Amino acid sequence: MTENALGETGPGYRFDTLKVRGSYDPGAHQQASSVPIYQTASWEMGDAARGERLFRQEELGFLYTRVGNPTVDVLERRVAQLDGAAGAIALASGMAAVSYSILNLADSGGHIVASPYLYGGSFDLFKSILPRYGIITEFARSLDVADVQALIRPNTKALFVESIANPSGHVADIAGLADLAHRNGIPLIVDNTFATPYLIQPLRHGADIVVYSATKGLSGHGSVIAGLICEGGAFDWGNGKFPPFTDKGYTLRDRNDVHRSFLEVFPETPFTARVRLALLNYLGAALGPFDAYLALLGLETLSERIEKQLANVKAVIAYLQGSEHVSWVDYAGLPESPNHALASRYAPKGPGTIFTFGFKGSIAEQEAFLDATRLFSYQVNVGDAKSLIVNNAKTTHSELTPDEQVDSGLPPETVRLSIGLEDPRDLIEDLDQAFAAAFGTRSEA
Ligand code: PLP
Repeated sequence: MTENALGETGPGYRFDTLKVRGSYDPGAHQQASSVPIYQTASWEMGDAARGERLFRQEELGFLYTRVGNPTVDVLERRVAQLDGAAGAIALASGMAAVSYSILNLADSGGHIVASPYLYGGSFDLFKSILPRYGIITEFARSLDVADVQALIRPNTKALFVESIANPSGHVADIAGLADLAHRNGIPLIVDNTFATPYLIQPLRHGADIVVYSATKGLSGHGSVIAGLICEGGAFDWGNGKFPPFTDKGYTLRDRNDVHRSFLEVFPETPFTARVRLALLNYLGAALGPFDAYLALLGLETLSERIEKQLANVKAVIAYLQGSEHVSWVDYAGLPESPNHALASRYAPKGPGTIFTFGFKGSIAEQEAFLDATRLFSYQVNVGDAKSLIVNNAKTTHSELTPDEQVDSGLPPETVRLSIGLEDPRDLIEDLDQAFAAAFGTRSEA
């Protein structure tokens, strides 16, 4: 799909136009300039005949906000446009998006191959929670195609990776992994949270499913918890490996009571349709309309925020590289990074607004440094307009054992910075005074 073919709001609209106006027609909403917040649990069905049409999927319409709401719908369609997706569904959190993306295609006996470089919550979901439901995950030794390939079995249902990993910043070879997945008849799922569609659009590189924590850079204001799943529309769910999409069910019966499958009823978007009508409907992690509105507000400034944050990242990294208190800086945008070639290929504008560095000192000094920052907020979130700092080994990735932490690229000295929209000089001065405080060299102002 070309960039210009995205527009539902008109032919030829580009990314920055779509992020502000995509999939919203004021004429269909009382001429409201902002997307209205449809704060209602339920919808009038009108008459019994329409009720039946709605339930038989003969007419698409809103019934109940757990499974669909016009405010949420604009968010879904707009993100689908930005990602070049055939369909998208919004959920109550990024973790709902990650877990539903797996539960939608694998059930007991299913096997997943995952990247070793994942957000701690996703890692522990795969390691500790899903096995209790019979879904077994193996973590590849690295993201090299050969290491991933070695783990694929006949019952493997998907490859799961982060495009830019939390927190190590590893960049996935999306096209290479998609090719491997497709040769084995399985989809590639990419968590694109750190990149956002502004920096990487995984579907354009061959990925099949994209998941987001919209809590992060997609919204960018740190005021909402939200998630999304997008589907590319090209994967063959009818290849015999995915009964959830081909099994014929009573709930999808037609007027003649003939049972039908998700693939038959929703041939363009079977994946997100099943997330909506099976998982969201029965497990219920619905995004509320007000939260969808907040996500839409944030989305309006996505490109502008990320550009400014990328410039701030450069300035802060230049400072850290000159600091005697820093043993290493890991950012795929640096020419010396082993990920630099992949970053240049997949994220030419820049590989994100989050990076890690090695604190040269004891853990007690690291903690004194964290305690001494005044502007950098000590938080587990990322992608906020405000700059954030965290010691991942003890917080966001504390679910991982020390060995697993090292394997996933975060030794104990790791400090993660999520760079916000402040003046970079203030950020640098903040780090400088915090180092001085940690090492007892600060002259108290
Ligand atoms: N995916 C990634 C890469 C994350 O960093 C996070 C949270 O930090 C999540 C998913 C989960 O998102 P949420 O906190 O919105 O549930």
